Amino acid sequence: MSTQRTLVKDGHVLTMDPALGDFESADILIEDGVIVAVGPDLGVTDAEVIDATGHLVLPGFIDTHRHTWQSLVRGICGDWTLGDYYFGMRLGISPAYTADDVRLGNFYGAVDALNAGVTTLLDFSHCNNTPDHSDGAVRGLQESGIRAAFCYGFFESSPHGTQFGDHAARIADFHRIADQYFTSDGRLTLGVSLSEIFGLPWEQTVSELSAARERNALLVNHAGCVFGSPLSNGILEMDALGLLGPDMVHVHCTTFDDDAVWEALARSGGKVSISTQTEMNMGFGRPAFQRCRQHGIKPTLSADIVSLNSGDLWHEMRFGLSCARADAADAINSAGHMPEQVAVTAREALTWPTVNAADAMGLGDRVGSLSPGKRADLQIVGGAALEQHPVVDPYATLVFQTSSADVRTVLVDGQVVKRDGVLTVADRQSLTTQVDAASERILGRVRDAGRTLPGTPPGAFDAIEPITREYHEQAVRAAMAGRH
Ligand SMILES: [Zn+2]
Repeated sequence: MSTQRTLVKDGHVLTMDPALGDFESADILIEDGVIVAVGPDLGVTDAEVIDATGHLVLPGFIDTHRHTWQSLVRGICGDWTLGDYYFGMRLGISPAYTADDVRLGNFYGAVDALNAGVTTLLDFSHCNNTPDHSDGAVRGLQESGIRAAFCYGFFESSPHGTQFGDHAARIADFHRIADQYFTSDGRLTLGVSLSEIFGLPWEQTVSELSAARERNALLVNHAGCVFGSPLSNGILEMDALGLLGPDMVHVHCTTFDDDAVWEALARSGGKVSISTQTEMNMGFGRPAFQRCRQHGIKPTLSADIVSLNSGDLWHEMRFGLSCARADAADAINSAGHMPEQVAVTAREALTWPTVNAADAMGLGDRVGSLSPGKRADLQIVGGAALEQHPVVDPYATLVFQTSSADVRTVLVDGQVVKRDGVLTVADRQSLTTQVDAASERILGRVRDAGRTLPGTPPGAFDAIEPITREYHEQAVRAAMAGRH
């Protein structure tokens, strides 16, 4: 088979690889999806050329937590709290999704991500209501061509618990998916989305952790995001039982104010994903940038839910940097002073969705920087838009001025998925027609089932509380006994 060679030519290249640095004008040579050389004027004449003159070239972005299936109800949570979301989305809308809705939601969500320069997703998949739904979720990602960790979630979205019968059947379905789709090394890798800790019996949390580790799968955990409740805690209990690890991405961590929790996370090599927009809009606290800095944990970013905010990490990065700087300035301001310098630079913000995120997903040897030997996942940014001129400081342009419309060309594994502003993996018109129709059908089913949105039942949280506390007690007893 002949080698496929592509040359990204004459771009301003930000490699995000400290050993390589940046080039005001350089070429990137790609062979069969792998970056083989980066440097000025490589003198290659026998490759397909993508002209990047006058543009910035950087690694594709990596989102470390997205419920991709929710793309079909984009923006529905505009005025919802986290409680509204739990009852309205996870118990209200999710049961109205068919298996094909999950496929289309994941396909559309992945295409939306690619369009914005996101080349890798951690898909926190928790609409696996039947085995067909989990098949649909995997296929939607596969069809899009995106790189993703498909993280299987075991959440029971039906209030009647009808779909799988019991938790063990869900674990069995995870193993079926692992055998069916993840035996070879492609763009999709396998993960597990833990059910919220203390939202289910402790032994079931342990069985989810064990299933993931049996398959060497990435683990993602909604952690520390509910104030005044044990729900989504459990870091200290997992630490006591040796269940934490560097294979875990802990999402949010906004309620953790105990240094011992952060020390346990840092000691375990755990990663942190920050969803600035959902955290601040839905009332689950201040993003944990400052805590990460204090404990030497490198932050990563996630769009979380397109059902609230955009799937565009440009906004997430910009808003995140504002939060990180404001948090760092707080202590100085409250002492009656002004900061003498910014605490976090724009370049550092660009590490969050690139090198940090690749490392968090265990993909640091494959993606995250434009280094020879890595897969060619990259984006070419710039063009005619007013906000792209002039480029005085490329990092400032990217972090503060850029949107998905400025993402001109995107490659995944060396394959073009967007070329000069036009998606090549989907027909935009036909896709949006399908998406609008599917969305109407889903919301029609919600109405037909007599569910109002967001529809938090009065006193619902008070009703959950004693159950959560009991599950917490189970973990405490297990930790004290020193066994799972
Ligand atoms: Zn989430």
